[in-house]
Amino acid sequence: MNNRRTTITHSIRTMTAFAAALAITGCGTNLLSKNDEIKLGRQAAQGIEQKYGVSNNPADNNLVQRIGQKIMAANNLEWPFTFKVLNDRSVNAVSLPGGPVYVFRGLIDATAGNVDELASVMAHEVAHVQHRHAAKQYSQAVLTDVAIQVGTGGAVQTAAQIANLFAQMSFSREDEYQADSSGIKYAYKAGYDPNGLVEFFRRLQRMEKQGSGNVISNNLRTHPLTSSRIERAEKEIAKITQTVNAERKALEMIDDK
Ligand SMILES: [Zn+2]
Repeated sequence: MNNRRTTITHSIRTMTAFAAALAITGCGTNLLSKNDEIKLGRQAAQGIEQKYGVSNNPADNNLVQRIGQKIMAANNLEWPFTFKVLNDRSVNAVSLPGGPVYVFRGLIDATAGNVDELASVMAHEVAHVQHRHAAKQYSQAVLTDVAIQVGTGGAVQTAAQIANLFAQMSFSREDEYQADSSGIKYAYKAGYDPNGLVEFFRRLQRMEKQGSGNVISNNLRTHPLTSSRIERAEKEIAKITQTVNAERKALEMIDDK
């Protein structure tokens, strides 16, 4: 990747800052520094939490926390991740730039105690953050939108508006494949069965066939769920588990010496 990165030292709390970012760097990807990306994610997180409400169910929260911490501990991740449950029936999960990961209550219900499925979906969202996929999208979408509003003298974007932009964001097919691959690795290294991802995809397909697809909100629906994506995930699982096992074996041999 040879994306042009520009360090923007000011806070991105206001539209002026967004507009400045656009003016300084023109168009392209990864316009924002990591710190600015984290700030933008936190702002969007406020909006998401206001919109859906954070669940206070201790069992759900403990489960999601435990999975999130295990994924973080087992992998070399460089963002300040947080893991929360949203009080909403959608079968969905969403991640925001710089670390916030949200599991909708409907996803926990739908996976019906299959922790490998839940962990695989969470690891997929973690991978979107790790690879800064949203940055590419908001470079084009959010910043363009903000620039238009600046140009037309529109109102300052609220946290809720920013949250909506992220909740409706869809990633490119390439980015989804990358998130699938990395997510499979993260989940497996953390001790989960990455076949949970494939099982979850199949579950979504069944739900859509049964007509309960209306509970699947925009985000997971726009992740293209094709049979080639599922086949690809199966191949990746075989390849990645083999690689990780070989790495583990090599480490054991070093330890034994
Ligand atoms: Zn995705």
